[in-house]
Amino acid sequence: MGGLLLAVLAAWRIALFAEQWALTELRETGAARVALYAATLRDNLEKFRPIPYILARDPRVRALLQGESSPLRLNPHLEDFAGSAGALFFLLDQRGDTVAASNWRTEQSLIGSNFAFRPYFLDAREGRPGSYYAVGLKTGQPGFFLSYPVLAAGRLLGVVVIKVDLAELELSWRESGETVIVSDAYGVLFLSSRPEWKYHSLRPLPQQTADWLREVQYLGHPLTLLRAERQAGGEDNVLHLDQRSFLEQSRQLLEYGWRIHYLSDLQPVRTAFRLALAVAAVLTASLLLTLLFLRERRQKLHSRREAEEARAIRELNERLQEEIDQHRRTETTLRHTQEELIQAGKLAALGRMSAAIAHELNQPVAAIRTFLASCRLLLARGRMDQVGANLELIDGLAERMGGITGQLKTFARKSRGRREPQDLVTVLSRVLSCLAPQLTAQGVSLYQDLPPAGTAVVAGDGPQLEQVLNNVLQNALDAMAGCHDPALSLHLSATDGEAVLLCRDSGPGIAAEALDALFEPFVTTKEIGRGLGLGLSITYGIVREMDGTIRGQNHPDGGAVFTLRLPLATPLPQARSSHP
Ligand code: ADP
Repeated sequence: MGGLLLAVLAAWRIALFAEQWALTELRETGAARVALYAATLRDNLEKFRPIPYILARDPRVRALLQGESSPLRLNPHLEDFAGSAGALFFLLDQRGDTVAASNWRTEQSLIGSNFAFRPYFLDAREGRPGSYYAVGLKTGQPGFFLSYPVLAAGRLLGVVVIKVDLAELELSWRESGETVIVSDAYGVLFLSSRPEWKYHSLRPLPQQTADWLREVQYLGHPLTLLRAERQAGGEDNVLHLDQRSFLEQSRQLLEYGWRIHYLSDLQPVRTAFRLALAVAAVLTASLLLTLLFLRERRQKLHSRREAEEARAIRELNERLQEEIDQHRRTETTLRHTQEELIQAGKLAALGRMSAAIAHELNQPVAAIRTFLASCRLLLARGRMDQVGANLELIDGLAERMGGITGQLKTFARKSRGRREPQDLVTVLSRVLSCLAPQLTAQGVSLYQDLPPAGTAVVAGDGPQLEQVLNNVLQNALDAMAGCHDPALSLHLSATDGEAVLLCRDSGPGIAAEALDALFEPFVTTKEIGRGLGLGLSITYGIVREMDGTIRGQNHPDGGAVFTLRLPLATPLPQARSSHP
């Protein structure tokens, strides 16, 4: 809407500019034309001005006026002069009667006519040269009269008059197609390229003046008012005449008391305005249409792009949905497979467990049987002292069997769910003191890097935590059995809300077959009778219950490293340093 208003305004401004431009052109041309017409008119009149003066000095004229000659002698002369000059020559006596005339031969001969009423005669009678535009009394033809007195010793003998015919000049104006008019001091148009305006006045005439002019100058012409409306706007005079508008440019012809007017039809200016408006309107309309078209195209492209994007997104969604479905199917299949594997794993584990337990128990059971048989023999022989030694051995075997079943019990036992603050430094030193004889026996060098007591406090069950540490350290000692320069390093830290224990040994490292299933039950590389493969599995269960993690890996420089991470609990109120 704003754009349309702007376009209309722009078209209007362009049209106004074109109108101004056309008006300026018209004004400039008009100014030049009016100057030219004024000069031509003046030339046409002024070339005759000396003639009456010259004639007034002609001895033949004087002779006639003084009664020394006959008009018959002067008339042919006047006719001759007039013929070459293209004007009418005549001579008036002191009463204003025509005594000689160049048109003496024609029917309209002026001879005998009295012109004493004409202002040019009155002027000459006063001794002045006269000039005057009037309609001929006899001829009915208008013309410009120039008069000059013929004087003898200051006495008026007569008046020489010539009448310059301006009909041809007027005709040339008419033929040029331009509008030129000349008005006298009263505003009466007496020369006009438009005949219909001639002898009309531009302004109202007082009755008396009109009568006098009709009588003396424009003989019989009604001198009605021309229906012209003048509109002065800015530097221009606009004249509305005959339902047309003209730009009026005029010049004063002071020496005659006249004004010459050049009228330029304003139609071309109006046409220029309308044409420019039409062109500008068409141009702005096409510009607007182009802009609208471009906008619509942009919108279309935009919506097409949006539709394409929407389609792409839809396709992507469909593909994603498909992939999700595929994943779901795969997941279901995997779950089934996993369940099957678990089932199979469970069966395998059960098999392995049965074999291990059978192995572990078979040996002491067989030994107990042997010792019992030997006891029976010894009893029969009355060797009581040896029976006691055998019973000791049977007791040891039973204890070993109890240990095995005890381990199984631990494995099967549900957590007691006790979570009390346990200082890892304290727990570690307890476990180490239990293992001290073994450490000494194997000649293990122990390196410890521990935080102050009371800082690495975790929440858990004391004996379970001991079991965890014992399993890890026992495994390290087992691994280092028979190693040269065995070394065990323990590093404990408590930062960022967790306690981290690193336990590194100098053993051969974790065997490849055990590495992948380190924490699964009944995974062992130890020889029969030395391990059930339950230690790390139990450890894993306890650690997980304490919201911690445990992982075992081989150190690049050899040996195994076990990393135990447990969340820190609130520190103990009274910290007691218990490590060396
Ligand atoms: P077990 O001690 O009865 O074999 P575990 O579950 O404690 O059962 O250990 C499983 C296996 O992990 C061990 O048999 C051994 O092969 C491996 N292992 C554990 N700790 C270490 C270690 N420090 N160095 C080398 N291997 C280890």
